[in-house]
Amino acid sequence: MLPPSLDELIDANHPVRTVSRVIDQINLDGLIKTYKGGGTTSFHPRMLLKVVVYAYLSNVYSSRRMEAALKENIHFMWLSGMQQPDHNTINRFRSDRLKEVVKKIFAEVVTMLIDSGQVSLKDVYTDGTKIEANANRYTFVWGKAIKTSKARMGEALKELWQYAESVAAEELKDQTPTTFAPVSAEQVKQTIDKIDEALKDKPITRKAKQKLGYARKNFADRITRYEAQEKILAGRNSYSKTDTDATFMRMKEDHMRNGQLKPAYNLQLSTSDQYILCYSLHPNPTDTLTLAPHLDQFEQLHHTLPKTLTADAGYGSEENYALLEQKEIEPYVKYNTFDKEQHKANENPFHPENLFYNDAQDCYYCPMGQPMRRIGDKHIKTASGYEQTYARYQAQRCEGCPLRSSCHQSKYNRIIEVNYNLKRHRQKARQNLQSEQGIRHRKQRCHDTEPVFANIKHNKGFKRFMLRSLPKVAIETALICMAHNFQKAVA
Ligand code: SF4
Repeated sequence: MLPPSLDELIDANHPVRTVSRVIDQINLDGLIKTYKGGGTTSFHPRMLLKVVVYAYLSNVYSSRRMEAALKENIHFMWLSGMQQPDHNTINRFRSDRLKEVVKKIFAEVVTMLIDSGQVSLKDVYTDGTKIEANANRYTFVWGKAIKTSKARMGEALKELWQYAESVAAEELKDQTPTTFAPVSAEQVKQTIDKIDEALKDKPITRKAKQKLGYARKNFADRITRYEAQEKILAGRNSYSKTDTDATFMRMKEDHMRNGQLKPAYNLQLSTSDQYILCYSLHPNPTDTLTLAPHLDQFEQLHHTLPKTLTADAGYGSEENYALLEQKEIEPYVKYNTFDKEQHKANENPFHPENLFYNDAQDCYYCPMGQPMRRIGDKHIKTASGYEQTYARYQAQRCEGCPLRSSCHQSKYNRIIEVNYNLKRHRQKARQNLQSEQGIRHRKQRCHDTEPVFANIKHNKGFKRFMLRSLPKVAIETALICMAHNFQKAVA
C-alpha cells in the first residue's frame, strides 16, 4: 500500500552503500571544526562529502550536474537523505571546506583498505601522467620571452646612453651606470632621467627623441609587470594567465597532432595492486625531479615510507638513487641504458665502461695501453641543487696514435669523466632489477600504475581538471583518487 522507500530500491551491494558506509567511519572532526556553529543552518559535511565522493565515482565532476543528480538520481537522493544542496553550496564545500582536510580523508580511506588486507604500503609502483588544467591554452606567459624582452630593453637603454654621451659628453661624465640590464623599475627610471637631464636643451634627432619618449613611457611599467610575472613563474618556464599554477607541457593526448603545449599539472601516483596510495602534483614536465616531493607527501599521508619502489627510467637519476638510499627504500628503478644493456652488451672498446681500471694506482688504461691519470674532479649542480662529482682522467699523449680517429675527436689528449657514485647506484639497481624479485616488480609495474591512469582518464573521462589553482586542483585529485580506490574495492 505504501510507496517503496529509496532504501528498498538500492541493491545491497551497490557502490553507493560502500561509499556511505566507509565515510560514516571516517573521523571528520577537522572538517566539522571549519563550520562556525552558533545555530546557522547548513548541510552536514558528512552528507556533502558522501555526495561529492560518489559523484566522482560516477564520473560526475561538475557541481551543476551534481545538483541535478540530487534531484533525479535515486542513489544521490538516498545518499543525501533527499536534501538538495545547490551547486554553489557543493562548489563552496569542494573548493573551500575540503582544502585543509582532504589529504587526511584520503589517507584514512587508504588506511581502511590496509586494515581490510586489500593493500599494503610495502611495495609501491610510481609513475606520472599529465592532466590538462582548466585554463586558456592561448593566454600564456613565457619565462624566455621575459628574458629576451629585458635584454632588448637593456640594449635600447645602452644605445640611448651612448647617443646621449655623443651629444652631451660633459653632462654624463662619470655617471655611466654599472649595468644597463634592467634590474628594477627604479633603476631604469633613474637611467632615463639622467639621459633626459643631459639632453635637455640639446638639439637631438627625431628618432632619438621618439626612442627616449617610448622608453620613458613604457620601460619602468614593463619591468614592474615582468617582476610580478617572474614571481608567479617561480623558476618555471611558463604559466597560463587563467590558472597561474598551471605550466605549459607537451601532452600525450595531441589530437591536432601539432605538438601544441597545453597548460597542465604533472600528476604523480604511487600505487600497489592498482590502488592509489599516494598522489602529488608538480609543475615539472618531466618525472626526474618529482620523486623527492612525492615521497615527502607519502610520508605526510601515511607516516611511513615504502620498503621498495619500482619506477621507469625517467626516475633513474643519481639524485633519485641517493634519495632512495637515504630513505632506506630498496630501488627497483631502471636507468636510461638498462634495457639496451639487457639486449646487447656495450662492445665499444673505447667506451669508458670498457677501459681497464687499475684500482691501486687510480688510473684507466686506454686501448693503446697508455695510462690515463686522474687530473681532478668536476662538480655539477643539478636543477634541484644536487651536486654530482665526476672524476676526470686524461691520456698522456694522443698525438700520432693510430687509433685516434676511432677513439675521440678532441684536439687535445683524451679525457674521460667517471661518476663513481652513479656507477655504484646503477650497479645496485641492476642487481635488484635482475633478481627474481626485481623481475616480478618489473612485470607488475606495467600493469599497476598504467591501468590506474587509463581508468582515470579513459574510463572515468577525467582528462581535464574542473577547478583552477594548485590547492583546488589538489582537492580534485584527492577526490578522483578516492573514487578510483572505492571503485576498485567494490569491483
Ligand atoms: S687516441 Fe689517445 S686515448 Fe685513444 S687510444 Fe690513442 S692514445 Fe689512447
